[in-house]
Amino acid sequence: MADPRGFLRYRDRELPTRRPVPVRLMDWREVYEAREKGTLDVVSRQAGRCMNCGIPFCHQGCPLGNLIPEWNDLVYRDDWREASERLHATNNFPEFTGRACPAPCESSCVLGINQPPVTIKNVEVSIIDRAFEEGWVEPVEPARQTGRAVAVVGSGPAGLAAAQQLTRAGHSVVVLERDDRLGGLLRYGIPEFKLEKRHVDRRLQQLRAEGTRFRTGVEVGGTGEGALSVEDLRSRFDAVVLATGASVPRELAVPGREAVGIHPAMEYLTQANRLVEGDWVADPISAEGKDVVIIGGGDTGADCLGTALRQGARSVTTLAIGNQPPAERDESQPWPTHPVLFEVSAAHEEGGDRSFLASTTGFEVDDAGAVTGLKVSRTQYRDGGRLPTPGTETVLPATLVLIAMGFTGAREDGLLSSLGVDLTARGTIVHDEQWSTSAPDVFTAGDCARGQSLIVWAIAEGRACAAAVDRHLTGSSSLPAPVSPGEKPVAV
Ligand SMILES: Cc1cc2nc3c(=O)[nH]c(=O)nc-3n(C[C@H](O)[C@H](O)[C@H](O)COP(=O)(O)OP(=O)(O)OC[C@H]3O[C@@H](n4cnc5c(N)ncnc54)[C@H](O)[C@@H]3O)c2cc1C
Ligand code: SF4
Repeated sequence: MADPRGFLRYRDRELPTRRPVPVRLMDWREVYEAREKGTLDVVSRQAGRCMNCGIPFCHQGCPLGNLIPEWNDLVYRDDWREASERLHATNNFPEFTGRACPAPCESSCVLGINQPPVTIKNVEVSIIDRAFEEGWVEPVEPARQTGRAVAVVGSGPAGLAAAQQLTRAGHSVVVLERDDRLGGLLRYGIPEFKLEKRHVDRRLQQLRAEGTRFRTGVEVGGTGEGALSVEDLRSRFDAVVLATGASVPRELAVPGREAVGIHPAMEYLTQANRLVEGDWVADPISAEGKDVVIIGGGDTGADCLGTALRQGARSVTTLAIGNQPPAERDESQPWPTHPVLFEVSAAHEEGGDRSFLASTTGFEVDDAGAVTGLKVSRTQYRDGGRLPTPGTETVLPATLVLIAMGFTGAREDGLLSSLGVDLTARGTIVHDEQWSTSAPDVFTAGDCARGQSLIVWAIAEGRACAAAVDRHLTGSSSLPAPVSPGEKPVAV
């Protein structure tokens, strides 16, 4: 333990400064001020608050089992290079989790019992940013080649983690991606202001240099141009990892849903991300000058909010069907659980209204078939469900409605049935303890296996799945397997 009195001397959390709202609304760059060398002293001081607990609950809160007290200690002692080594020992992509993870590790930090927890996530991102700046992140080339070929279908964080691990174990790995660019939801879901795409590109360079090969515009199991048939997939590869995500949006089946101007959140966010990349998009959905209503109060809703504000929306209202969560832990969510709290994300700071207990019962539509408003009733909790209360309906003006109600499961567009992969009733891919699906030599990881989740779980599952594939192909594996299928965070 570097500083035995650190947590007594420095009781407050010190976090990086966000750029002023009017300034950051003028661009798509990350909301934080550029990290300056001097701010590393603050990070070291915060790392020095870590108590190096006998039972570090932060480990259990993190699906990757990140060695948090070790790198806190190293940062405090100014050994950033070794801190980067220890960070990479459990996490392939700390620059993604350090920016976009909800940090269950911080919710379970022991210091959080009676003080603000250690700023673990900011220490993580500071280590990896410095490691890239100093040139410490280098390709790790495999020591030997096994002669076995693996196809990874999908280039989100689960697919990329599995691919990197399998390449390093000496397999010949090809990542097959349907989209024109790599990264999955890191690329076309999460907006630039939360995760600049240069971070994804920078990491992809390392994977390429290590020997992972990438093919974009390849729909595996599809029939269009550039598609790869299931027969070809089977004949060319010894094993297949399905990391295809959970992209089927949850729908809102109420009268007027088919009106012009009502879109699933991902349709909107994908287009917005493409425009930021400089792509030409035919007749893009734009919030400019519109009264925008976002149905769904989660992270995706917040991403739509930040995007709509940057596009110049006239007004933005976010509706959540449930109660407003408490601002702080209450008795029902004691430490070390990951509590559901009233979250004020960077996007919420930027503008818009939020309404809770709001049940949408229908849409108002004009003669041209375009949406003009939402019919909203107050939610009541009854018989274990959430229902609109009769007689409470009001109309909210809306000229653009974004449905951000989450995702139900893996998309079945021919690939899964052709391979003979079974799905659960929830729409996720059935797999056993070894990440093996019902089809021989076919494995799975990430959202398509687990259901809609988080980057940190996708990376953890990609790593564990890679270890199982390596064992399947060679009889044994020294790759780490941080999680088991179906495992939930200990602290949740
Ligand atoms: C808007 C939004 C914001 C989010 N924000 C956060 C956040 O801040 N923090 C966080 O931790 N998590 C966040 N998440 C969740 C997180 O992005 C996902 O949990 C994570 O990306 C899942 O990774 P994955 O690799 O399993 O799948 P994905 O990232 O979904 O990648 C799957 C890939 O497979 C490809 N694919 C599918 N089928 C085929 C096929 N037949 N052939 C070839 N390729 C195929 C897809 O094109 C896609 O690129 C967010 C999700 C959304 C939608
Ligand atoms: S639980 Fe918190 S204080 Fe304890 S080792 Fe982990 S980060 Fe440090």
